[in-house]
Amino acid sequence: MAYYKLSQSLIDRYGVKTYKLPINVPGSCPNRDGLRSRGGCSFCAEGAMDFELLDAKKSIGDQLLRNKEYIGSRYGAKKFIAYFQNYTATYRPTEELISMMEECLIEDVVEISLSTRPDCVPREMLEEIKKFSDKNSVQVTIELGVQCLNDQVLIHMNRGHTAEESLEAMKAVKDVGLNLAIHGILNYPGMDNQDVVDLAQACSDYGADRVKLHSLYIERGTKLGQLYEAGEIEICSFEDYFERVLLFLGHLKEDIAVERFFARAPEETSLFCNWSRSWRYLMGQIEAVMEERDFHQGQDRR
Ligand code: SF4
Repeated sequence: MAYYKLSQSLIDRYGVKTYKLPINVPGSCPNRDGLRSRGGCSFCAEGAMDFELLDAKKSIGDQLLRNKEYIGSRYGAKKFIAYFQNYTATYRPTEELISMMEECLIEDVVEISLSTRPDCVPREMLEEIKKFSDKNSVQVTIELGVQCLNDQVLIHMNRGHTAEESLEAMKAVKDVGLNLAIHGILNYPGMDNQDVVDLAQACSDYGADRVKLHSLYIERGTKLGQLYEAGEIEICSFEDYFERVLLFLGHLKEDIAVERFFARAPEETSLFCNWSRSWRYLMGQIEAVMEERDFHQGQDRR
């Protein structure tokens, strides 16, 4: 196996095919509501909605049951991860978050995953989440949008947090005993190979359980979209992106599960996504490169 796929890691952990069930709940983000910034990240479309989510007016339980039925029958999944995907899941009072997590305790949900920012995981909240996890025998994963560990790039992204805050959050999540997933971008304008290696090394050194890579996509109406339309930024070729992914994986510990390499975005609102190639095509190409080179995850670690 050239790299440790998330699907395999979930079978290893839960014994059966396990899929994520996305949940849509109203929320906010400190990078939009003024606490950190009002503009949001350069690549984030207003509302930070995902095109696969159900109507936020439906209860969490309803959304999970509907998605469970659909995803269970379509993909043959037997266990599920309740996934708080949009906005900043932990940007709310702890009691409110715990109460939302309680709604996820339905049959066959074995894990809850919370997508958030490095500056929104206070230690006291993480400890309460860990208590909830132990009490209810359900795994909890904190998905941190780290993106990159280069402060100059983070400023251009208008992330509103520093690399140091990301490292502190990664440490805190593991210190309290929760699972840690890292979201990263390898081809934001201004990133170089050293940034790619630094991110892989930090994921390895700080005990990340999973990583999810997003190839940069550009949505209409975002700051990045404006720069792209004005011809002020360039995006590397997909062949160069493959090299970055291999560089990243080569420096990533073998037991860290990899969720994806490529972005998914709605075509109607995207100015650029995946070099106008299908996700399936790109996966086939990158896996062929891995096979040709007899590549395996972790091969470049010291
Ligand atoms: S932190 Fe997330 S939700 Fe907030 S602006 Fe950035 S990408 Fe959008």
